[in-house]
Amino acid sequence: MAETLKCLIIGSGPAGYTAAIYAARAGLNPVVYTGMEPGGQLMITTDVENYPGYPDGRTGPEMMADFQKQAERFGTEVKYELITKVDFTGPVHKVWTESGEEIAAHTVIISTGASAKWLGLESETRLMNQGVSACAVCDGFFFKGQDVALVGGGDTAAEEATYLAKICPTVHMLVRRDEMRASKIMQQRVKDTKNIIVHWNTQTDEILGEKEVEGVRVLDRVSGEKRVIPVKGFFVAIGHKPNTDIFKDWIDMDETGYLNVVLGTAHTNINGVFVSGDASDKVYRQAVTAAGTGCMAALDAERYLVEHSIV
Ligand code: NAP
Repeated sequence: MAETLKCLIIGSGPAGYTAAIYAARAGLNPVVYTGMEPGGQLMITTDVENYPGYPDGRTGPEMMADFQKQAERFGTEVKYELITKVDFTGPVHKVWTESGEEIAAHTVIISTGASAKWLGLESETRLMNQGVSACAVCDGFFFKGQDVALVGGGDTAAEEATYLAKICPTVHMLVRRDEMRASKIMQQRVKDTKNIIVHWNTQTDEILGEKEVEGVRVLDRVSGEKRVIPVKGFFVAIGHKPNTDIFKDWIDMDETGYLNVVLGTAHTNINGVFVSGDASDKVYRQAVTAAGTGCMAALDAERYLVEHSIV
């Protein structure tokens, strides 16, 4: 087996690459395992206009290429492989790639992110980034002055609907039951926002449009009737799933799989294993917050290595 790494980073979104930039500059020779979606969720985003330092915006893929370049400039090694198994018995941690290679590391930074849940319609995939989005804060601005629809009835949907209502004349909120899962206060906020129309018992049948979204065909689950709502944007806000399945026997997590972090740090319940980004964040989920916690994880890993006289 190869020598024990000082710092192994799992995941290659803004959190993973920021951790790599800091770890590399601190001389930890980090190795990033990109996972199945190199670059993470930003790879399916068109323009990123809210990341500080990019006054003219940047496409998600361009931004992630920049993150990677910056990490590699300081000596980060990037491996295009998926980690499928871990053993955090310690003190040296072990992980395995999909091809069965075993890697040992003194510190591991988990930056595996989360994936948006999708409805699973063909039209949803086809019109992705052509009016279909899973992030109102990222993409809402592009629909300024235009009517949009948003599917979901949880806190995320309620929050995103009120966000969109500040930009768009009408927000059609499609809720599949006769009640919302969102907290009372968020439901009240939706109710108080005049330009949000809640369509109860309403299921998305198809997103309409050839090259861009032109409307949504919905099914009334009570009457069985179908109707078309003309919109230019379609937002899916039915939840996210953190990519943390491989850690479930090791790292404390909540009932939905988000990893628990020691408040104000990047520490997990396991010494030498740190977490950053959306794998432990179900509230903010922004590239800039992921990058911030990536920095925290690298600094915590460096301190750990110093305290244990490894560097
Ligand atoms: P969630 O609570 O799981 O809600 C998902 C919503 O999407 C539910 O209304 C669900 O309907 C609906 N849904 C699921 N699959 C669907 C489908 N195929 N078609 C149509 N609708 C579908 O997810 P979330 O809103 O992302 O929230 C996740 C967690 O983060 C929650 O604990 C939430 O409180 C928290 N959060 C907190 C804040 C905050 O504090 N500011 C903000 C955002 C999220 P059903 O109810 O019928 O299942």
